[in-house]
Amino acid sequence: MGKVLVIGCGGVAGVAIHKCVQNAEVFDEVVIASRTKSKCDALKEKLSGGKVKIETAQVDADNVDELIALIERVKPDVVLNLALPYQDLTIMDACLATKVHYVDTANYEPLDTAKFEYKWQWAYREKFEKAGITALLGSGFDPGVTSVFSAYALKHHFDEINYIDILDCNGGDHGYPFATNFNPEINIREVSAKGSYWENGKWVETEPMEIKRVYHFDQVGEKDMYLLHHEEIESLALNIPGIKRIRFFMTFGQSYLTHLKCLENVGMTSIEPILFEGKEIVPLQFLKAVLPDPASLGPRTVGKTNIGCIFRGKKDGKDKTYYLYNVCDHQECYKEVGSQAVSYTTGVPAMIGAMMVMTGKWQKPGVYNMEEFDPDPFMDALNKWGLPWRESFDPQLVD
Ligand code: NDP
Repeated sequence: MGKVLVIGCGGVAGVAIHKCVQNAEVFDEVVIASRTKSKCDALKEKLSGGKVKIETAQVDADNVDELIALIERVKPDVVLNLALPYQDLTIMDACLATKVHYVDTANYEPLDTAKFEYKWQWAYREKFEKAGITALLGSGFDPGVTSVFSAYALKHHFDEINYIDILDCNGGDHGYPFATNFNPEINIREVSAKGSYWENGKWVETEPMEIKRVYHFDQVGEKDMYLLHHEEIESLALNIPGIKRIRFFMTFGQSYLTHLKCLENVGMTSIEPILFEGKEIVPLQFLKAVLPDPASLGPRTVGKTNIGCIFRGKKDGKDKTYYLYNVCDHQECYKEVGSQAVSYTTGVPAMIGAMMVMTGKWQKPGVYNMEEFDPDPFMDALNKWGLPWRESFDPQLVD
């Protein structure tokens, strides 16, 4: 039993906190701290009354001193960072100063460049080792579950994995002409960046949305999907021995792509600040302010997500193919926790990651990615906490 301090109170945090509260055997206290305290208080109001004690606090997670003061007051066993990627390093600094374990769901990004690299967080390895605390990076779905799937496939099904294709399909429909399913700023930075994949020991770069494939997803149907850069590729390339190629594909509908192209063409997706009526604004941040709040999509999104990995490699000298995936229904998620499936598929693994560290199943001083731990307890927890996985030994392949 222990106490988790959750930083951030947006779409993903809402689900993770619901799940911590369902999991009273592990979490006896949850402290929710974010920039806007009223959101934390509203969630506390909704979830109070059960076995798990809930407290709230205001914090600016860009400010290390404020974070240190909060952690010293709250004394959590684990800090679960569900704010934005910009806050990863300040929160890691505060965890180091207070010697508390750290878990997040997305790699650090500097505000001025969309880079998606682990180098800034991996640079903390020695400091975390010396402090005797664990940092678990990327405990969402992708990265997160996809990384655990890779470790599980390697442990139980292959002697060597040579090819991984990560397929992320959102077959949901929210009825808006254009909206993003999670933080619009992060989402648009990710999809408007150049694509890339890992092949034969190096990155191969593509233009944004240059590589398109069509895939038939179980329980969703046929969808167009596009190759994107994605952060788990970088760590899997290091941690999966014998790997020759890793690619990541995400599905997008034509309406989303047409709107995105138009917004890009007029400069609305830029992260370069401009002067507007005497005030500096970042066009992408302004766009975020006029788009639907991802948290408001829950009641109106219908359909399913299907996210997983196709592995190809060798077992006992023979070629083998294995597909591990999860299917999640938007409306079922909404009924259970009041959020759509994109927040759900991230929030559940975030809770499980915090649980793995809190219970000591995944504790090792240093900074680690998800595939570096024993996948089995995490895989069991996925089945138990709402993201059951399915497997196929004869899947459609991506050419
Ligand atoms: P939201 O925008 O819905 O929530 C972010 C929260 O962080 C908000 O409550 C926001 O406060 C708070 N916040 C932002 N800046 C600060 C700050 N300086 N100090 C304190 N609190 C702050 O985002 P999501 O819930 O959609 O995403 C959360 C994280 O999950 C992101 O890092 C995202 O990249 C990651 N993610 C990972 C996925 C995966 O599969 N691995 C998939 C989807 C998301 P306020 O309410 O005031 O705005």
